[in-house]
Order: sequence, then C-alpha cells, then structure tokens
Amino acid sequence: MARKVLVLADVRDNSFRNVSFEAIAAGKKVANGGEVVSVVLGENVSGLTSELFYYGADRVITVENSSLKEYTPDAYSQALLQVIDAETPDAVFMGHTAVGKDLAPRIAMKKQSGLISDAIELEAVGEEVIFTRPIYSGKAFEKKVVTDGMILATIRPNNIPPLDKDESRTGEVKALDVEIKDLRTIIKEVVRKSTGGVDLSEAKIIVSGGRGVKSEEGFKKLYELADVLGAAVGASRGACDADYCDYALQIGQTGKVVTPDLYIALGISGAIQHVAGMSNSKCIVAVNKDPEASIFSIADYGIVGDLFEVLPLLIEEFKKE
Ligand code: FAD
Repeated sequence: MARKVLVLADVRDNSFRNVSFEAIAAGKKVANGGEVVSVVLGENVSGLTSELFYYGADRVITVENSSLKEYTPDAYSQALLQVIDAETPDAVFMGHTAVGKDLAPRIAMKKQSGLISDAIELEAVGEEVIFTRPIYSGKAFEKKVVTDGMILATIRPNNIPPLDKDESRTGEVKALDVEIKDLRTIIKEVVRKSTGGVDLSEAKIIVSGGRGVKSEEGFKKLYELADVLGAAVGASRGACDADYCDYALQIGQTGKVVTPDLYIALGISGAIQHVAGMSNSKCIVAVNKDPEASIFSIADYGIVGDLFEVLPLLIEEFKKE
C-alpha cells in the first residue's frame, strides 16, 4: 500500500537536527512507493531545504511566518494542522524531541487520531504499520500495530539510520501560506544555556558524570575528555542536584533520553531513574570505585577504580588516537 507521509523537520539555529533525516528514513519505510513530504516551519527557512532532498524527501513544503521563529505550541500546531488539512497525509512523523513531544499530542487531539510516541523502529506490512517502542523505562519493548486512520508518530533520535546523503537529489519546494491567530504564547526573549558544542540528545558519544565527580571543578575534566572524543557531556540528577552542572545535562527518567553509540558513565551509581534514560546506548562504559555499583550490571565494559585516576589516563590515551 502506497502512502503519503508528512515529516516535520526539526530546525535549530538555522540547520536541521539529524532526527529530521532519521524521520525521513522512517517515512520512506512506510511510504511504500508513495511520497515523503518534508515540512519546514519557521522564519527565513526556505534557503535550507536542499538537505532534506539529499536525505530522501520527495517534496518540501515551507511555512514562513514571524510567529514560527521560535517554537510555541499554539503557533506550531495551527501551522502544522493547516499543512495536514491541505495535504491529507496517511502518516505524520516528527522527532521525539522537546518540540515533537509537545506538538504531537496536540495534533493527535485536534485530528482525533492515535499517537505512537517514542518509536525506535517501524515496518510496513501490507495495510499495517508496526512500531516498536520502549516501555517500563526501557526495560521492555512493545509492538504497536496501526491499521487505520492517520498514523501519527514521534521517532526517537539516534535509532533509525538516515538514508545515505545524495547531493544529486532535488525536488519541488512549495511555500504554503497559513493563518496563525489568537496566540496565547508569545516569546519575548530566548536565553540559551550553553551546554557545550554537541547536542546531548543527538550525540554519538556521551561522557556523563555523577555525584562521584564531586564538584563543578571535577566536571571540567569531563569536558576535557568530551573535547578529545567530540562528545557531549551529560549528568545524573545526583550531579545536577549537587550543583556540579546544569539541569540541562540531566539524563534519565525526568531528564533526557539518549541513545549514543558510546556512553561513558563516571561516578554514577546506576539508579533505575538514571538507567531509564541511557540503557539503550549501544556501548556502555562505567567507571566506579564501588565494584557493587549497579551501573556495572548494564555496562559492556567496567572499570573499578577512582575516576580521578582513570579520567586523566583516558584523556591521554584518546589524545594519541
Ligand atoms: P549516587 O547514587 O550518589 O552515586 C555516586 C556514585 O559515584 C557511587 O556509585 C560511588 O561509588 C561513585 N563514586 C564516588 N566517588 C567516586 C570516585 N572518586 N571514582 C569513581 N566512582 C566514585 N536520577 C537521574 O540520574 N536522572 C533522572 O532523570 C532521575 N529522575 C528521578 C525521578 C524521581 C521521581 C526520583 C525519585 C529520582 C530520580 N533520579 C534521577 C535520582 C536517582 O534516584 C538517583 O538518586 C541519582 O541518579 C543518583 O545519582 P548518582 O548516581 O550521580 O549519585
């Protein structure tokens, strides 16, 4: 069955987050010979669209409006609903990002559709689309089968590989005018917290620190290792609560959910609420001075030792690479 799949691109600082391309790849899996239409909402975004074709979009729709410059739930949902009404897609996908998590339920409510949230895999089998998603804080996975109605899903970053980049691909770009009115949320100022160069939720490598790092000063060493590896820095809530770092770095049940290729946990005990946010990392390396620490039960590689001795050795070794 051929389907038309609308994929919302996630724009940040004038470029697309990788999950935009991963969601296009997800769209391709269910389009089944139909088309994948990428939607870009924002202000001055029409110059960005070529990359969406490189990663597989068949068509692009841009919606430019000054009230779409920054994400607000009411402006974005009004704009996306109008694109959905104009295109009548069989499926709508977006990243399971801060934007996607907030926007998708609003779209589901307005369109009276279901919502598959946080999908990590999907396949189309005949009339059915089968999604896999984590449950019980990542301890188990469930399959959800969607057979009718508009399929709405958010796709977890770093799980579905994007298609190979092909710079010869191009396609039609259409600008759509939408009416955005009665806004209840107006952004007056955006204050960005700097959490280092690499975006935590999309990072391939994360160096993460816990209460064992002991101070803000200790976290500086983590940044040094992260710099050498091209990694992002993350943290447990223990470290955030102790004021060693900003809450923007928190990984876990009430923080960010990450799926990097490599997760290095330093001085983190492995509480269930932390593990909920990182257990699906492809390779977990734990450094902890307590051999009984529960982080070792999920680690692929464990180093029992003082992180302040291990960290300089790791930095030195990786610098040689
Ligand atoms: P600790 O548990 O204190 O562990 C510190 C570890 O460092 C110990 O294992 C110790 O052996 C080791 N260590 C100490 N010194 C050294 C050294 N020199 N070298 C090597 N190792 C050393 N937590 C999260 O992380 N994310 C969440 O999203 C989250 N959400 C929560 C939601 C709820 C509702 C609740 C109740 C809790 C939540 N928590 C969350 C908190 C969670 O339960 C833990 O308290 C927290 O994860 C502990 O952080 P930690 O591992 O850094 O600290």
